[in-house]
Amino acid sequence: MEQVLERAHAQRLDGADPLASFRDRVVIADPDLIYLDGNSLGRLPTSTGERLRAVVAGEWGAALVGSWKDWIELPSRVGDVIGEHLLGALPGEVVVSDSTTVNLYKLAAAALDARPDRRVIVTDDDNFPTDRYVLDGLAAARGLEIRTVTADPTHGPSLADIAGALDTDVALVSFSHVAYRSGALLDLAAVTAAAHEVGALTLWDLSHAAGSVPVALNSAGADLAVGCTYKYLSGGPGAPAFLYVRRDLQAQLRQPIWGWFGQRNQFAMGEHYDPEPDVRSTLTGTPAVLGLAAVDEGARLLADAGIDRLRAKGMALTSLLCELTDAWLAPLGFTVVSPRDPALRGSHLTLHHEQAWAICRALAAEAAVVGDYREPDRLRLGPAPLYTRFVDVWDAADRLRRLIAAGGHLPYAGPRTRVT
Ligand SMILES: *Cc1c(COP(=O)(O)O)cnc(C)c1O
Repeated sequence: MEQVLERAHAQRLDGADPLASFRDRVVIADPDLIYLDGNSLGRLPTSTGERLRAVVAGEWGAALVGSWKDWIELPSRVGDVIGEHLLGALPGEVVVSDSTTVNLYKLAAAALDARPDRRVIVTDDDNFPTDRYVLDGLAAARGLEIRTVTADPTHGPSLADIAGALDTDVALVSFSHVAYRSGALLDLAAVTAAAHEVGALTLWDLSHAAGSVPVALNSAGADLAVGCTYKYLSGGPGAPAFLYVRRDLQAQLRQPIWGWFGQRNQFAMGEHYDPEPDVRSTLTGTPAVLGLAAVDEGARLLADAGIDRLRAKGMALTSLLCELTDAWLAPLGFTVVSPRDPALRGSHLTLHHEQAWAICRALAAEAAVVGDYREPDRLRLGPAPLYTRFVDVWDAADRLRRLIAAGGHLPYAGPRTRVT
């Protein structure tokens, strides 16, 4: 049997990795640091610095307001790159604009307005907080009911439970494709089909899916989607988010923020709001040009790598981590609380440990391994396939077992910091 537990095995996997050279296309400031948090803030692509310098000096500094003739196309142009290469969307179905939270609000409100005689929103109790809050806020403002499916903490909401929550009172069905905590992958096509059977619209949060798993929005017939660009897409902190509206819905839906960037013939400065008949009607105000340029670089880098290769490597990385956890970390109190079948999870693996908070902090401070902590007792490790090596996963697990065996985490118990 090949020795899975030996470092040489990880080195062999790196030697055969078709994406290995992509590590040179991101900034690695500290080669000793093992960064397993690319699902929270993706590493900086080397080309992004150059691009931003060019935008700042050339487009803003020199060309000034004349640059708007190009900038104005950025939300659609960058959206199309993301849509084509990462989301399975058609040209003209994706734009980049605002934050994921704001996009959720816009699209959820538009969907509810399109189903005025229905009064139920279906989501799950482990959906990302901002998703639950936005949906709760809309329900409170409109006197609607939130029907909450109870998610299994490891496997996410089940298809049977989701189907059980659906009836002809349901206007909107909103889930994450990859669960932020456990990494559980929800069957987007099956849920979409079930929602359509009762006449409801679907709104997907793709924040942990974009760039880690192939998403087939259009072939699944998904209605609406949103997601972050600063995670696997490496667009940078606070980078503007993407949103998707299926082409045949675009002229029917009306989002609630009637801004001038959604206006047909915007610079005619017309008296009344008359939105574009396409996805641009979801735009609001002046786009964040520097952020968009950075998202463009990150999205193109992932497009070069190819989502199928990223997916294959992501499954292999988390599978190696799973095996090392079983062999080395289970005896130290860890359990895998992500689906064990790699086809049923995204590109991160979550471990349960009673001391997860102290361990997460000690791991970064004492062992130069950055993961993140998620309530109540989870250590989330995201080996982003674009730039994480198999030896990084091996070394991280090795450093983790040594840290715990030596009690290195014990001094780190204590109150949570503001950001976990
Ligand atoms: C990270 C994340 C968000 C964050 O939304 P912002 O508006 O960018 O703060 C939303 N939803 C999910 C599922 C996430 O993972």
